Amino acid sequence: MPHDFLQPLTGSFAMPAGENPTVAMIEAAFRHHGLNWRYINCEVAPEDLGDAVRGARAMGWKGFNCSIPHKVAVIEHLDGLGESARIIGAVNTIVRDGDRLIGENTDGKGFVRALGEITDPAGKRVVLFGAGGAARAVAVELALAGASRITVVNRSAGRGEAVAALINERTPASAEYAPWDGPFAIPAETDIVVNATSIGLYPDVEETPDIDHDTLRPDMVVADGIHNPPLTKLLQAARARGCKTADGLGMLVGQGVIGLKYWTGIDADAEVMRKALLDLGL
Ligand code: NDP
Repeated sequence: MPHDFLQPLTGSFAMPAGENPTVAMIEAAFRHHGLNWRYINCEVAPEDLGDAVRGARAMGWKGFNCSIPHKVAVIEHLDGLGESARIIGAVNTIVRDGDRLIGENTDGKGFVRALGEITDPAGKRVVLFGAGGAARAVAVELALAGASRITVVNRSAGRGEAVAALINERTPASAEYAPWDGPFAIPAETDIVVNATSIGLYPDVEETPDIDHDTLRPDMVVADGIHNPPLTKLLQAARARGCKTADGLGMLVGQGVIGLKYWTGIDADAEVMRKALLDLGL
């Protein structure tokens, strides 16, 4: 008698039902690699989070993702944290290790993986726009990957200063906060420019971070965390000035590849996963 619920399962807490990009790309990888696994969507109310984690544990799930509002609250239900998740203070990927559930954060790891196809962040100087959850994760992973200096540019000074302080206090990199009160001129010695704000996300596709495009130089790499649309106005401007670019779809795929490695041990085919996302019309 088959027990479907005993199949290796991963999961995804609090994602909206329907055609979900993460489900589409993870399930595409399962099919492509011949894994009889499932990745399912469960919407979990904040007051039910502990029960949901205990349920995943009881059912032998190999792991799950969780999104806002569970990224911090889930930590008290876990048995340990990976290095960067501990520094970032938030978790989006849970991995079973024997009887233990370990929290990891793949937001920034996915970004660094995608960026790594274009440039190695080691020793590089970065200008990072944004200081929310995504920017925090990206800053920490860039620092752990060896970036030498990170300038955090953010509208709200308090959040920007907090990310810069986190990098200075908890990683080997050095960081500073820079106010954002007009078109931002990218310093000439910058190697990597990152938009980790939510500016330009569908449906506000005509919006773009207030950056002086004339200060972008061809030897800079410009990356955008926005995955919908993948070719943002910022990336269009960067390409027009000869910069190499990394899009937010690559960051999303990178997160999926890393999650699959944690859960199944396979090195998933990133192209298959990217195609699954593009097939959704992203
Ligand atoms: P948060 O809400 O935590 O942070 C939003 C950031 O954008 C803040 O720094 C905020 O500045 C800034 N911001 C928003 N609107 C404006 C504006 N009009 N002018 C200036 N700054 C603005 O969001 P997250 O960090 O969680 O996510 C940010 C983006 O990253 C999302 O849009 C998401 O699409 C993307 N992302 C992509 C992933 C991927 O895999 N591709 C993964 C995770 C996120 P302030 O602090 O001043 O409010």
